[in-house]
Amino acid sequence: MHFTIMTLFPEMVLQGLSSSIIGRAQKQGLISVSAVNIRDYTTEKHGHVDDYTYGGGAGMLMMADPILRCYRAVCAQAERRPRVLYMTPQGKLFTQSDAKKLAAEEELVILCGHYEGIDERALELLGADCFSIGDYILTGGELPAMVMVDAISRMVPGVLSNSESGETESLEGSLLEYPQYTRPEVYEGLRVPEVLLSGDHAKVDRWRREQSLKRTMERRPDLLEKAELDERDRRFLRRIRKDCGDGSGKMQERDVPGT
Ligand code: SAM
Repeated sequence: MHFTIMTLFPEMVLQGLSSSIIGRAQKQGLISVSAVNIRDYTTEKHGHVDDYTYGGGAGMLMMADPILRCYRAVCAQAERRPRVLYMTPQGKLFTQSDAKKLAAEEELVILCGHYEGIDERALELLGADCFSIGDYILTGGELPAMVMVDAISRMVPGVLSNSESGETESLEGSLLEYPQYTRPEVYEGLRVPEVLLSGDHAKVDRWRREQSLKRTMERRPDLLEKAELDERDRRFLRRIRKDCGDGSGKMQERDVPGT
């Protein structure tokens, strides 16, 4: 899978993606990442890529022309017209399920905005799909682009080794992951839960499932609406909801949707 990042700061994204698992995946040829500098495609005599907004208001806007020229140069190198994802706080909130779907693409172009954003006509002409990485405003699309490349690449077969497998992670089946422990068995007086040392795989699996349910109920009750739950899960949730509701006040009935 190949990613092309269109940005005003190519060195920032290339450096950010050169280490660890994503760096290794590039060395192994499982993914490749290139970055093109939109500024190289401006025809403005001082090298500007931004201008004032029509209608007034503070801040500068990235002009459409350098972006379109840049994209056409990318297309000239590609076998077919690659899909464009524009990073914007106005986009669809990027989720693990998007990461999985996008990992099936052969090539993606990720467009990073800066300043006040991008002339709307550029997005229209590119047919860009808009994605946000969260409800906050960053100074540019470079960090969101790195987040997307990282999350999508992890879903490309072979990028994660068996020991790093993404199969049982948080958000699988819309549940958060259960708590995990490694050596030593006792650390500063805190013991690893006994069941994890029992060697009884069925019991360990059930404990982990229940911890996932509990953690999701406490931290992200909104996820339970989409979670794949069976009758046993629902019974467990009803039970802990009742326990929490009678004194601790941690979890109220109305906070647990879908149960
Ligand atoms: N004026 C724009 C608005 O209100 O939608 C925000 C512009 S922001 C300061 C500059 C650039 O950062 C955006 O064009 C976008 O590429 C990127 N950006 C900022 N926050 C983002 C977020 N939460 N998700 C994705 N991209 C973001």
